[in-house]
Amino acid sequence: ADKHAAEETIFSKIIRQEIPTPLLFQDELVTAFRDISPQANSHILIIPNKLIPTANDIEQDDELTIGRMFTVAKKLAKAEGIAENGYRLIMNCNQHGGQEVYHIHLHLVGGEPLGRMLD
Ligand code: 5GP
Repeated sequence: ADKHAAEETIFSKIIRQEIPTPLLFQDELVTAFRDISPQANSHILIIPNKLIPTANDIEQDDELTIGRMFTVAKKLAKAEGIAENGYRLIMNCNQHGGQEVYHIHLHLVGGEPLGRMLD
């Protein structure tokens, strides 16, 4: 049995706008909005409309959606004015990765120099 078997999170309510979070982008595959607790000057979350609990649950059929998350991240980085200076795209997985919301999301973080994480 999967520990995080497809149980909806607050992100599904944001996608459906049952919680009034301003959306920066939404199409048939993905939704983007600002992180409620920004870790940098710019901190945006890009999520699939479909519930995929963790990176471990990504299937081959999800490749179009996962690709869309990245093209939307790039567009939002440009719109945010942080593309040239640079930014970081992060997806946390499970406890060791520090995942808190079990609906995958790409963190787009930037707008200031970011510390090294992988040294
Ligand atoms: P994780 O640790 O799972 O990679 O990141 C979850 C992120 O979702 C955190 O950065 C947290 O601040 C953000 N978050 C959690 N709940 C909400 C919410 O209700 N609205 C928004 N906009 N962000 C949220």
